[in-house]
Amino acid sequence: MNRVKYFIDNIASIIKAKWLVQQDNALIEQLLIDSRKLIFPQTSLFFALKGPRRDGHAFIAPLYKKGVRNFVISEAVDTDAFSEANILQVSDPLQALQTLVAHHRKQFSLPVIGITGSNGKTIVKEWLNQLLEDHYTIIRSPKSYNSQIGVPLSVWPLNEQHELAIFEAGISLPGEMEQLQKIIQPTIGIFTNVGEAHSEGFVNLRQKVNEKLQLFRHVETLIYCQDDHEINSGVAALWQQLPNNKRFTIFSWSMVSEAVLQVREVLKEGAGTTITAQYKGEEISIVIPFTDNASVENAIHCWCVMLHLQLSQEVIERHMRQLGPVAMRLELKKGINNCSIINDSYSADLSSFTIALDFLSQQQQHTKRTVILSDILQSGRSEKDLYAEVARLLQQRQVSRLIGIGERISHQQHIFQNAGIPEPAFYSSVDAFIKELPHIPFKDEIILLKGARVFELEQIDRLLQQKVHQTVMEIDLTAVAHNLKQFQQLLKPATKMMGMVKAFSYGSGSYEIANALQFHHLDYLAVAYADEGVELRKGGINLPVMVMNPEESTFDVLVQYNLEPDLYAPGILRLFEDFVKKQGIQQYPVHIELETGMNRLGFSMAELPVVIDALRTPFFKVQSVFTHLASSEDPQHDAYTNKQGGLYLEMAEQLQAVLSYRFIRHVVNTAGIVRHPQWHLDMVRLGIGLYGGDSSGEGGLDLREVSTLKSTIAQIKELKEGETVSYGRRGVVTRDTRIATVRIGYADGYPRLLGHGVGKMLVNGHLAPVIGTVCMDMTMIDITNISHVREGDEVIVFGGALPVKQVAHWAQTIPYELLAGVSQRVKRIYFEE
Ligand SMILES: *Cc1c(COP(=O)(O)O)cnc(C)c1O
Repeated sequence: MNRVKYFIDNIASIIKAKWLVQQDNALIEQLLIDSRKLIFPQTSLFFALKGPRRDGHAFIAPLYKKGVRNFVISEAVDTDAFSEANILQVSDPLQALQTLVAHHRKQFSLPVIGITGSNGKTIVKEWLNQLLEDHYTIIRSPKSYNSQIGVPLSVWPLNEQHELAIFEAGISLPGEMEQLQKIIQPTIGIFTNVGEAHSEGFVNLRQKVNEKLQLFRHVETLIYCQDDHEINSGVAALWQQLPNNKRFTIFSWSMVSEAVLQVREVLKEGAGTTITAQYKGEEISIVIPFTDNASVENAIHCWCVMLHLQLSQEVIERHMRQLGPVAMRLELKKGINNCSIINDSYSADLSSFTIALDFLSQQQQHTKRTVILSDILQSGRSEKDLYAEVARLLQQRQVSRLIGIGERISHQQHIFQNAGIPEPAFYSSVDAFIKELPHIPFKDEIILLKGARVFELEQIDRLLQQKVHQTVMEIDLTAVAHNLKQFQQLLKPATKMMGMVKAFSYGSGSYEIANALQFHHLDYLAVAYADEGVELRKGGINLPVMVMNPEESTFDVLVQYNLEPDLYAPGILRLFEDFVKKQGIQQYPVHIELETGMNRLGFSMAELPVVIDALRTPFFKVQSVFTHLASSEDPQHDAYTNKQGGLYLEMAEQLQAVLSYRFIRHVVNTAGIVRHPQWHLDMVRLGIGLYGGDSSGEGGLDLREVSTLKSTIAQIKELKEGETVSYGRRGVVTRDTRIATVRIGYADGYPRLLGHGVGKMLVNGHLAPVIGTVCMDMTMIDITNISHVREGDEVIVFGGALPVKQVAHWAQTIPYELLAGVSQRVKRIYFEE
């Protein structure tokens, strides 16, 4: 294969770097920016990027140890320590990455579709891939890689085999799109739509539109909906600005006025929509298997592309009918025999496979890792090459077992055997596998299901899933990471963070959340009781864990699992001192809690001498000293909060004076992080904020709700005026009424206070009030005014469009109680966008 190759010499001149250390002229195949994603050390080039909290330069030494020899850096490094490396110095490694990939893009002249807009970028991209993959060998951005870093990483794998490229571009600041334009160099542009201005860093809508339009400066054709006034006038202005011979062709569509594709009718019938339009004097139509407005808009954008590429009407109609949903997320859920399952059975290509493998290897709760993989279609390379790379990926991620499904992967099974992949097994089809399934052992392992849509691996997913009743709490791990970032931005770079994962992470699960926090490099975790800490250790969490409420009966497991007790009173301190003394342990890591005004746990000023005596013994190593604020969220009590802080400092100094080393000082919780930056000290303790709650209501943080509690409708009934609903006959029907029985009750954590119309649930996007008393396992709701509701339909209890804060308000409580109260019998499903 005649591929464009890059050697480090070459790259040095493309990015105009200065050599700090120069060794062999290495071939570079992978660009690496996240040290956790390292797969091929010899052929990777690491860019030491600088973020607000992490500096890529810190990862040079560990990567060097793992065999990486090629680096692009901006800061001085100890060149003697990396004498076998190639080290290139530039002023800005991110810019160097972008320059290199822009250069790479220039080597190819294929049609490249560039997509931007506020919503629908990823769906349009994925749908175009579905619609065109029979006709072109396509490269596209994996998932929604559309940032300043994501775009270069998406474009880098472009090679001679590709016949069409589809990349998305997203921006959050003025000036960014110009960079992305240089890397993508689209020939066909799609502007999906534009949302509100303030959601991104722009002063007004016009500025945002103009900035996004920068992607299209050099396209040949621009596809957009002219019904949006801002977009329409922005495009017209850009078009006017361009010199005559550089102007693009406009491919507009409209529902209301004349356009290249003029939509005449949108007819929603049953599960589908027929869209009829006028194009080049003819009436044409498509049917899509979706009825929501966003899908209609996305499909019309795709339609324009297909018309522009001159596909036949028959081909367009056929593919449009087959459009499938786009999985925007990776789900982790419980399976049979204590397995966990990641279902990613909507696409199979190398880049999304790599992302799914990354997610797999981040999960620590099982040592055994199984991958069930279908044929990979349309990769644009030889099958031998392709599956050799798959084998390398599997090996690198230490996958314990491979189950290949499909004729093609089965045909290449020798590659996996030769590569030493343990336990490979192959089946010609999903049916063949399902027939054998009862004889295949699955136990205590994590299973990744990855396959092209046509294989329908979701059939396997259904068979491997644990069967429980149909109330689930969905937990968005991407939102956790997003919220974490929001709070990190409020901290000085050196300030540490402790993640509060007590009470099953406020109801969101235990090791799954802790695992995500560990992945994002938090410094500490805290739980309430020792058994919660043991769960974390069993799930493979190795961060230090503080146990806030240690009990004497759990001292042995504390020590066995290396958990660090909070010693908060003379009694527990003496007990623990006796225990470690007997065990012959010295320097055991502990935390000291001080009482400054919460009046819950902690040593008072008068009790400090007891602590000081204990600290003079060799038994303890004080990791941290902390106190808890009583009212950090309330401005009325700010004077009290500051008094607590002052008292804390005074007491902590007395302890520090008797120790020869420094301990970590920490005071604030979520609201304190937002409202009391002067008390951040060495570390902050983030709790509710991680899960999307900002109890201070200040700070203007853009937090995302993490949990959605969902249930299903077991039965629908028509009642006549005068009939009653539920226990005590208190739900009296005053008109003919349709009610639905939902599979959730107070045993699941749905408060009884929400009965009799106080609480509401979301059905088909409409609020349905609770009717009658909430039962132990079931609740009835009034759905008279909501059409098209069927038995089995989903009901949102809280989350998403029905914020947990609202439901908590109805139940006269706070989100903390509602979240933590969701019972353990409710299955948790974790996903990443
Ligand atoms: C629960 C808890 C926190 C976290 O509080 P949030 O308001 O959820 O951020 C912090 N510190 C201690 C001691 C806690 O018990």
